[in-house]
Amino acid sequence: MSVDVALKPVPHPNPDTQPYWDGLKQGRLLFQKCAGCGKVRHYPRPMCDACYAMELRWIEAKGTGTVHSWTETHYAFAPGFKAELPYILVTVDMTEGVRMQAPLRGARLDEIAIGTPVRVVFEPVSKDLTLPAFVLVRAEA
Ligand SMILES: [Zn+2]
Repeated sequence: MSVDVALKPVPHPNPDTQPYWDGLKQGRLLFQKCAGCGKVRHYPRPMCDACYAMELRWIEAKGTGTVHSWTETHYAFAPGFKAELPYILVTVDMTEGVRMQAPLRGARLDEIAIGTPVRVVFEPVSKDLTLPAFVLVRAEA
């Protein structure tokens, strides 16, 4: 997939989020796990919202989950998304218990329902940036 990063908003990693972006570049989905209470959280942030601990470790997620909700986007709020229209955005209940949002690739609306299994894939955008997306977990013969 080729993306004109000049026409799309792109993430700006900081020390709290850098491991997440580095993981995506390596084809690994990483979540933060609180070293105090063990709660897994996503998106990456410095403090646990359950116990307020600042200590954490990074865990590699399975990359699997089920559809919690979705929308089909027909309007591009940034010009870089225009060529992809319409596209489906899904909010996914990840196996680790957090929710994550990303585009769903290669699927039609009539293939999605609450609870539909999906898995993460990795889309290199530039040499420095890889973004997550989802695909359906289809029964494979
Ligand atoms: Zn905690």
